[in-house]
Amino acid sequence: MLIVQKYGGTSVGNVERIKAVAERVVQTKKQNNDVAVIVSAMSGETDKLIGLTNKLSSNPDGREMDLLLSSGERISAALTAIAINELGFKAMSFTGRQVGIVTDEAHTKARIERISGERVKRALENGIIPVIAGFQGVTETSDVTTLGRGGGDLTAVAIAAALKADLCEIYTDVDGVYTTDPDIVPDAKKLDKIAYEEMLELASLGAKVLQTRSVEFAKKYEVPVVVRSSFNNNPGTLVVKEDEDMEKVVVSGIAYDKNQAKITAIAVHDRPGIAAKLFNAIADANIIVDMIVQNVSSDGKETDISFTVPRSDGRKALKITEEIVSELGAKRVDLREDIAKVSIVGVGMRTHSGVAAKMFETLAEHGINIMMISTSEIKISSVIDSKYTELTVRVLHDAFELGEGKKKKQKRKKKKNFHI
Ligand code: ASP
Ligand code: MG
Repeated sequence: MLIVQKYGGTSVGNVERIKAVAERVVQTKKQNNDVAVIVSAMSGETDKLIGLTNKLSSNPDGREMDLLLSSGERISAALTAIAINELGFKAMSFTGRQVGIVTDEAHTKARIERISGERVKRALENGIIPVIAGFQGVTETSDVTTLGRGGGDLTAVAIAAALKADLCEIYTDVDGVYTTDPDIVPDAKKLDKIAYEEMLELASLGAKVLQTRSVEFAKKYEVPVVVRSSFNNNPGTLVVKEDEDMEKVVVSGIAYDKNQAKITAIAVHDRPGIAAKLFNAIADANIIVDMIVQNVSSDGKETDISFTVPRSDGRKALKITEEIVSELGAKRVDLREDIAKVSIVGVGMRTHSGVAAKMFETLAEHGINIMMISTSEIKISSVIDSKYTELTVRVLHDAFELGEGKKKKQKRKKKKNFHI
């Protein structure tokens, strides 16, 4: 097999950790695989470099930032190659440029345009383990770029796609992707397998585990990705194309987002062009709108429009909405910053009914009021009062029987019956 292994910041956090990575790489190689390695900067390094520039400038030039930030990954690539060599295997470290990762010119958040991967392929052909500095590329004119925070994941998936690797392993400090945040639900279960689309929808949980853009890339090129820990040998979570097994599971995970605010324009005229005008103004201010809810007016004259935006943009969105709708004779505009969005996600929703009903019933049983609802093919989101976020996540996790404990309980029950 050809395996691409990416090691995150904590996995290469110090010399001991780098030695452990080298051992794992060599172990994989010994099992008759070809291995290409991608590394992140040692944990805290990128933040440290950003901190240094902040001391010098409040608005540093992107080109200079990128040359600086790319250095963290170069250090760990070289150290990892040295550690592998020390174990008697031949490794060679490479920068983004050396492996031909060409990006656009959007410094500090560049997009990959193409990858030649020539030197990686040549190294592999010669039995050498390439160790590639993640998170970086170069523009057409050879300026260094970086791919946005967490961009090492994207390097790994892109290299895996370019090499047509059999597997892309992302090593981190957690065991994989969980049914929900284990800090809220200690009973949360590690998923063995998850569809790309589910992973994207769970991004608010998974973002810490996998960079969203890397998942989009993996989906597009159908790169099988495994998220696993470099601190143990547990198998991790496989992120792949959806299959029949996955459709049998109605809900795979529960995500929450406490970072939203809700704007409601009350009693806006119900006529063509109002929503267009409002959301054009919001878009012009570069504010990203998530949910939008508008009903038909009951009297044919006036209606309410509600929408959510990132909480940090709440006040700005309020001001814009006030300006627009006052011209249109609205009564008033409300801003609520104490809201949260809780979503249940699963590709099985495509083929099962009653999922929304169960979600709403569960919330009703616990006296949790729903302010807004939105749905997609594989997701149902409810906006609630943020003080009920943890409770909501917990009761939904229970209602859809996602926990580890549920399974155990069921098993125990079966056993008892058997004995009787
Ligand atoms: N070192 C970069 C960061 O901290 C990229 C990465 O780790 O993937 O965001
Ligand atoms: Mg990461």
